Amino acid sequence: MRTKIAIIGGGLSGLYAAYRLEQQGITDYILLEARTQLGGRIMDFTNLSQTTKNNFDLGPTWFWPEFQPQLNAIINTLNLEAFAQYDQGNTLVERSHTQPPTTMRGYTHAPTSMRLKGGMGTLINALHAKLSNKQIVTGALVKSITHQNSNIEVNFSTSSTADNKVNVEHVMLALPPRLAVSQITFTPALPSNLVTQWQNTATWMAPHAKYIAVYDTAFWREQALSGSARSSVGPMAEIHDASNPEGQAALFGFIGIPADDRKHISNEDLITHCRAQLVRLFGAQAATPKADIIKDWAKDSLTATSLDTHATNTHAPAPDITAQNGPWHQSLVGIGSEWAMQFPGYVAGAIEAASHGIEQYLATSN
Ligand SMILES: Cc1cc2nc3c(=O)[nH]c(=O)nc-3n(C[C@H](O)[C@H](O)[C@H](O)COP(=O)(O)OP(=O)(O)OC[C@H]3O[C@@H](n4cnc5c(N)ncnc54)[C@H](O)[C@@H]3O)c2cc1C
Repeated sequence: MRTKIAIIGGGLSGLYAAYRLEQQGITDYILLEARTQLGGRIMDFTNLSQTTKNNFDLGPTWFWPEFQPQLNAIINTLNLEAFAQYDQGNTLVERSHTQPPTTMRGYTHAPTSMRLKGGMGTLINALHAKLSNKQIVTGALVKSITHQNSNIEVNFSTSSTADNKVNVEHVMLALPPRLAVSQITFTPALPSNLVTQWQNTATWMAPHAKYIAVYDTAFWREQALSGSARSSVGPMAEIHDASNPEGQAALFGFIGIPADDRKHISNEDLITHCRAQLVRLFGAQAATPKADIIKDWAKDSLTATSLDTHATNTHAPAPDITAQNGPWHQSLVGIGSEWAMQFPGYVAGAIEAASHGIEQYLATSN
């Protein structure tokens, strides 16, 4: 099989690249996504009913329209509805095992953290719906990419066939740089300085795990609590309201236990401790969520590598997007969020990096 471009990864960056190509009238591309669903780190917990009113974000939750105008414009173009993160009321602070949580006056976030109605997954679904190309292949794990005599062969496995290939002229890597070099064998090898840069670029949020508990009502709001909490006790270090307007109520928290230590704790045990923490903070009503879930991104081999064990507070600076010279120069370009100059690792970065990759492609392919 032959086509012009292979996009590796069907997260936001890959889908947005496909959307931008189609806007330019280019449809001879294939998008290969290893998971059985699109979205990558944008992943829904679709709970109890099939309506998007009850989707909760297992991955990203927030964006900031005030300083991410490119992402905001796309959200508006796709007619997606945004709303502000609920932060009215007091916040709770849990300092030790021996003291009850203390109540503090909550603060309003500036700039406002915004969420999407129906969850971030609505962005993925809306972009996907705009694509006319049917070569969006899920369940396709790319294993090797070989450059020979101006042809690039991309090898991938699916659940039915171990050895599939597609021949292309150009490859766009729409996945984290570190993951690309750990998962894919490049022949000839990529320049060693590029491999080092890509390996050293931490994948944003890959070491994290998120807990979501769904309830019928946001009972904490009735106690003048915002649903936000900070804890030095854990297992969650930071908790927020995750309720859906017109849908179910929910709380979510980031687990504070490092990824290496989480390897020794079962999800069931962790869930039990998370529930107990929510009871300590918000009272007995928190004991019986209608549904709850842990998503441990560090255990997901399509996001994290063995290097993604330590959470950092800072976003890694963007590495080079292509090789300086040699066969891979411009024929292989990184477009995943971590390659963005302004917003590396963010949802907005996926849009930024994909736009940049498409601009580079259009500039060099004519
Ligand atoms: C818990 C969590 C919370 C976050 N919170 C926020 C937030 O609030 N705001 C914000 O701006 N950002 C947040 N982020 C970051 C945001 O999710 C990412 O920046 C963005 O989704 C990255 O999109 P991407 O397309 O670049 O990469 P990804 O979403 O990682 O997509 C890469 C895709 O490549 C696929 N893939 C991997 N290997 C292969 C292979 N060998 N072959 C084929 N396909 C492959 C993967 O399955 C995946 O679908 C958060 C992330 C997480 C995990």
